[in-house]
Amino acid sequence: MSSLHELDTPTFRLAVAQFDKAAELMDLDPNLRERLKYPQRSLVVSVPIRMDDNHVEVFTGYRVQHDSSRGPSKGGIRYHPEVNLGEVAALAMWMTWKCALADLPYGGAKGGVAVAPKQLSRAELQRLTRRYAAEIFPLIGPDKDVPAPDVGTDAQVMAWIMDTYSQQVGFAVPGVVTGKPLSIGGSLGREEATGRGVVCVTLEALRHLMIDVRASTVAIQGFGNVGSHTARIMCESGAKIVAVSDVEGGIYNARGLDIPALIAKNKGSGQPLADTKLGERLTNDELLQLDCTVLVPAALSEQITERNAAKLRCRVLAEGANGPTTMEADRIVQDKGIFVIPDILANSGGVIVSYFEWVQDAQRFFWKATDIQDRLNDLMTSAFQRTLRFATTRGTSMRMAALMTGIDKVAQAHLNRGLYP
Ligand code: NAD
Repeated sequence: MSSLHELDTPTFRLAVAQFDKAAELMDLDPNLRERLKYPQRSLVVSVPIRMDDNHVEVFTGYRVQHDSSRGPSKGGIRYHPEVNLGEVAALAMWMTWKCALADLPYGGAKGGVAVAPKQLSRAELQRLTRRYAAEIFPLIGPDKDVPAPDVGTDAQVMAWIMDTYSQQVGFAVPGVVTGKPLSIGGSLGREEATGRGVVCVTLEALRHLMIDVRASTVAIQGFGNVGSHTARIMCESGAKIVAVSDVEGGIYNARGLDIPALIAKNKGSGQPLADTKLGERLTNDELLQLDCTVLVPAALSEQITERNAAKLRCRVLAEGANGPTTMEADRIVQDKGIFVIPDILANSGGVIVSYFEWVQDAQRFFWKATDIQDRLNDLMTSAFQRTLRFATTRGTSMRMAALMTGIDKVAQAHLNRGLYP
């Protein structure tokens, strides 16, 4: 792998600081600590593509596998200009703990390309995706490492990866990616799965805190896959969504936003939410500081920091995004008594339904939407209750309880398998 100092970015430092704290609390074997702090395997690739004006541009891509002791590694692919090795490695590490916490037979991985996808034409995006897939081909496969969508990628991108991989091996391999269109082996319910999972554990938290969902207000940062489905399903569950935002800023309505109208207006148009005139404008900073029952960060990492944590006025923080809260902010949020549903628990609905998709592809047998929703609810509710019990009996935070549970399962797998050779 490339030199370790390339990993040294704020997001990687956050993932390692969380791991170190959990490892200390659980008295994890020092030999395992060193291994689990760094990725098992990292690949950095050049992705040259011909742009529509005929010149060639070279993008940098990554695929990092953090751990595969419990099964194939699993994790999304991110297209964003700020993608770097450290961020991808941090996201891969969180995937390892997330899969173990949910009891899925997977390790963690993540990939990405440093690119602004909205600045590419559809043809350029397809060429970029196919060349990136060809470059990471040696690492991926249904029994090795299975990518999925993340920020800036969607079902169409997964379809191009599936096709590129299938062309190389000479037959259709639906199980090489999840989050695909239904026509090529995708699963019902995958697109909304992360949002549905966020809502499932948020409702559990409200029940635990004895707060009526119908009296609850919700603010959501980010209105992409995770944010928009969380908004829609939370609204269907009876809560009032008072604010939502995207990268340009957000909108607010104390009486509750018309979420179906916002989704209809936003879909495909790329129109910034703030320009929709469906609520008063507000900034992303103002959204995070709103007086509300539930705050859902569903955009990027490190949004809640030392700078703004003391100003949070929510009762529940449901982390739809990966790594939205820094270590310093986490301490402040805990001291304020905010109930935190940590990212590796709150947003695990996506990888859970990805697992269902992979199982359906392997069986060549597809399930009904109600089967998927029921099984997702079962897995998420029991993960939430297990984490809450652990946190209560051990007197620790929900974040540490979730991390310690995930890390412990991975540690057990390493100890049982032993050190090769
Ligand atoms: P997406 O690309 O569909 O949407 C991202 C949203 O965040 C967009 O509305 C964008 O405008 C907004 N955004 C970007 N930068 C922002 C900023 N600086 N401030 C405010 N808003 C900003 O991405 P997604 O798939 O919804 O992923 C969102 C988060 O959820 C990421 O942290 C991702 O890793 C995590 N996540 C996604 C999935 C999944 O299944 N897609 C699963 C688990 C976790």
